[in-house]
Amino acid sequence: MQNISVIGAGTMGNGIAHVFAQKGFTVSLIDTQRAQLDKALATISANLDRQIAKSVLKPEDKQATLASITTYTDIPAGVASAELVVEAATENTELKLAIFRQLDQAAPKTCILASNTSSISITKIAAATRRPASVIGLHFMNPVPVMRLVEIINGYATDPMVTRQMVELTGKLDKTPCVVNDYPGFIANRILMPMLNEAVFSLYEGVAGVQEIDTIMKLGMSHPMGPLQLADFIGLDVCLSILKVLHDGFGQPKYAPCPLLTNMVTAGYLGIKSGEGFYKYTPDSKDLVVSGRFSS
Ligand code: NAD
Repeated sequence: MQNISVIGAGTMGNGIAHVFAQKGFTVSLIDTQRAQLDKALATISANLDRQIAKSVLKPEDKQATLASITTYTDIPAGVASAELVVEAATENTELKLAIFRQLDQAAPKTCILASNTSSISITKIAAATRRPASVIGLHFMNPVPVMRLVEIINGYATDPMVTRQMVELTGKLDKTPCVVNDYPGFIANRILMPMLNEAVFSLYEGVAGVQEIDTIMKLGMSHPMGPLQLADFIGLDVCLSILKVLHDGFGQPKYAPCPLLTNMVTAGYLGIKSGEGFYKYTPDSKDLVVSGRFSS
């Protein structure tokens, strides 16, 4: 397998294109927005420079990596010779179903179609195609060039041969693959999101403040970030939408999102991306400052 197409050039798409290109694959990076493609190439270039500064990459390999990536604004042109497509477009079910219908028409018959979705059912995505046995989840973690895990999700109809190929391929990216089955939240978000939600409930019920909750989980459990800081990093809107998928999918009250989380998202306090969540973020400071709404 040599030709990889990546759909979506946002946060995840640029990272996925980066790691494949760095390992010598030929990458077609596709986005409907030309500006997103330009931004992605600039981000990949800056991240390669960072790897050079840390001696993870040789300076002479930077140009070869960038030269392996061709950009497209048109899906059919970008997947014409793909052996694997990794879809990393916006997390929206209808959008992904439409993209997979289009991929099924445009990609070669033998091409494997993967989705990087955080929460949408792989089985549902596969059912939108006439090749459900060749559809699989490849859930990379953010930031992709740094994080070692790839959660590989078997849809109900995924061919075990396709799974084996993806295990082998992710190994070639120096990542650690873990194969799981397709149920709401897969494994990573099924376990992570209830923990983040419980941290928000603890704050909502006045058990402790933002700093105490995060410090207890950081120092007590050796987590690199506290749960509230991590929720801000992921995006509170993303956390809320994944919790809704778990709640709808399992129908159990233990997954119900905390009303405080719902309120914050409704009010536009989404974490880092909006400048404020549990913490307040300013471009000129790297200090972690608790939002005025939660500081005593
Ligand atoms: P993003 O918003 O940063 O990027 C999405 C990109 O998709 C945008 O550039 C947009 O222009 C493009 N796009 C939208 N419709 C398209 C279409 N029809 N064809 C081609 N491109 C299209 O989103 P992201 O954070 O990179 O997330 C992408 C996927 O990865 C989602 O499914 C998300 O759930 C998943 N994911 C995200 C993270 C994360 O931390 N951000 C982690 C793991 C998985």
